[in-house]
Amino acid sequence: MSKPRIAVLGMSHETMLASPASLEWTDITIRRSWDVAGRADTTGGMIEYLTQAGAEVLPLMFVGCQPGGPMPQEIHGALKKELLSRLAAELPVDGICLALHGAMEVPGLQTSADTDFVLSVRNLVGRDVPIAVGMDMHGHVTPEGVHSVDAWSGFRTAPHRDAAETGAAAAAQLLSVISKTRSPCTAAVRIPLLLPGECAMTDSDPTRSLFEMLPEIEAEHGVLGAMLLVGFAWNDVPWGGMAALVTHEDDADRAAVLACDLARAVWSRRHEFAFGVPTCGLADGLEIAARADEHPLYLSDTGDNVTAGAFGDSTNVLREVLARSDLSDVVVLGITAPTAVARCMDKPAGTVVTLTLGDDHIAQPPAPFTADATIAGTGQLDGSDWVKLKIAHVTVTLHAHRRMITTVDHIRALGIDPRQHAVYVVKLGYLHPEIEDVAARSLLLLTDGTANLDLGHVAYEVLPRPAFPLDPKMKWTPCPVIRDSTGGTKRTGSI
Ligand SMILES: [Zn+2]
Repeated sequence: MSKPRIAVLGMSHETMLASPASLEWTDITIRRSWDVAGRADTTGGMIEYLTQAGAEVLPLMFVGCQPGGPMPQEIHGALKKELLSRLAAELPVDGICLALHGAMEVPGLQTSADTDFVLSVRNLVGRDVPIAVGMDMHGHVTPEGVHSVDAWSGFRTAPHRDAAETGAAAAAQLLSVISKTRSPCTAAVRIPLLLPGECAMTDSDPTRSLFEMLPEIEAEHGVLGAMLLVGFAWNDVPWGGMAALVTHEDDADRAAVLACDLARAVWSRRHEFAFGVPTCGLADGLEIAARADEHPLYLSDTGDNVTAGAFGDSTNVLREVLARSDLSDVVVLGITAPTAVARCMDKPAGTVVTLTLGDDHIAQPPAPFTADATIAGTGQLDGSDWVKLKIAHVTVTLHAHRRMITTVDHIRALGIDPRQHAVYVVKLGYLHPEIEDVAARSLLLLTDGTANLDLGHVAYEVLPRPAFPLDPKMKWTPCPVIRDSTGGTKRTGSI
């Protein structure tokens, strides 16, 4: 055939349903046309692969969002409308690559927002145009999504280092489907296992071994792709839990066998999942920090982890750090504190201000305390004002909006060296790769908050039960959802 015309578009948001702060436009970055290309992300990997494979690539639009609270319907509607209209303007196309997260939720929809988007694209282009999805491993699939999508690829590394490879894998599967003019078969198994991402890091077992099964499955003749999803356990949704998914060129039964085997392998090791980074309570963590001689030491304020969707406004760790005279040279990064930022922004460096901190928590009860702070700098990060303060032995950055400090460049943008200080406190769970690479040591502080790593605080109501570890003695056997080669449902399981 002539060059296949492939549209590339997507919308990615990891939604924390429990967050008290809805997503705002300032949390959203939109790229259009060729601005979508050239990045080491999922759409970038798709575009690069398709270009090198000789396809006619149509980069349309990508909506990237900071993890956070639910996306309001009016914002979701506006974004979806533009995405679909840009796709409609390019039809007909021979295939579509979609970059999604998989844990996007919009209140009022009858299904996940990712599934809603997939179904909308399918309705627009009809049954015969292949659709491939590249997604985060911390997402979910639904039966409707399985029936509507032809090929899947998910991240295989946590911390995430393989977004571009994931996009490329989805694009490769799409071109294979197009060139062979077949409708592939997919089997997906929901695994009733709830894990915070920090218990499923791919550099330690059992997660590493389980993800290593994916290329082994894909080595079998006829298998298009295999995917394992850890899911996003903080959300109480009917499609919650983990999932195993296998796509086969033409054999639905074989896809089901492989997906069930993968799911059983996960289930058999359910007691082995554990935190991939040492954990401790706040007081113990600060005690360790005071005595540590490995620097820089990075402490994650996990309950307020903005990359899991928390609001980042807790000042509890800062308050405790300030209270300890045996700590020195501590940097506390990324506190959402719009009121304090507004008070400081127009003042020159060196100005001393008396600030009340902790009185505008929205995710936790207010816990006000006052501190004399010297302004050490101000600026903007991703369009949001920040102020850097020196308070006693602590350097702290406050932000007008929730911001993710996940890379060394983010830290440097705040005028702070990511290596030279003794201790850093970040609003993360596990460290993202670049910071992990500079940290001599890291600890997860088991702090309270929206992203509390103890899932026992989540009031599950619609999540299918039983589920592990909530129901520790439960028995389970896999029951796959299967999309057969006609694109219809052959058997529907319990996903
Ligand atoms: Zn993720």
